[in-house]
Amino acid sequence: MTISSLTPRPLIAGNWKMNGLTEALDQARAVAAALDAKPVGARVAICPPSTLLHRLAQILEGSTVLTGGQDCHPQVCGPHTGDVSAPMLVDAGATLVILGHSERREAHGETSALVATKVGAALAAGLEPIVCVGESLAQREAGLAVALVTAQVRDSLPAALAGQAFAVAYEPIWAIGTGRTATVADIEAMHAAIRAQLAAMFGEAGKTPPILYGGSVKADNAVEILGAAEVGGALVGGASLKASDFLAIIAAA
Ligand code: PEP
Repeated sequence: MTISSLTPRPLIAGNWKMNGLTEALDQARAVAAALDAKPVGARVAICPPSTLLHRLAQILEGSTVLTGGQDCHPQVCGPHTGDVSAPMLVDAGATLVILGHSERREAHGETSALVATKVGAALAAGLEPIVCVGESLAQREAGLAVALVTAQVRDSLPAALAGQAFAVAYEPIWAIGTGRTATVADIEAMHAAIRAQLAAMFGEAGKTPPILYGGSVKADNAVEILGAAEVGGALVGGASLKASDFLAIIAAA
């Protein structure tokens, strides 16, 4: 990946999803130690389940690895059993948060309008949002992928993001956890469409936020994917759970 002085450093974010008990923290320790010994150009983040967030942030303190949440509620506090607010994530040590992941859009009925309110809450708390978009296989096969993803970007990103640090993650739903990845041509076409949408929404400020690719990124496809035009990093699920796998992807950035 060629990085100009105007291009932000690529971001490689690990999404542990609902995986990880206490011993998983050893994997994060190993990632931090390896990057401490041999610094890399990319920014690296680990987004564990909420139960590990505070302990992970303590372990990563003083390292270059950032801690992120996987979701936040739009409200700061209140009667929302089981939810976590953006200030709570910050209080636990997070500096980033994944929002609008397709698993939340699907399993929790999250709309782009709701995601936009969560992005606003994250910004108000000082978190850097990673906003996920992506089409289903049926939508791609119907030729609707670009229109649908562009609409998700338009509707999930509030105007308040202008000039703020944020990332968009393009994750075709059919590539998540399946071992299938989009072709480089499809990735480049979608990332170009997302970039055009960001520029239409935010002008000059829309030209720099990294657009991550997510969906079965592994050590053996990371070089090709991360080298594609307009790919500014990766959101990594399964392959972020093991330090050696995650480090191999980080090394490709
Ligand atoms: C994800 O869920 O964000 C993801 C990209 O998962 P995986 O890498 O396992 O496909």
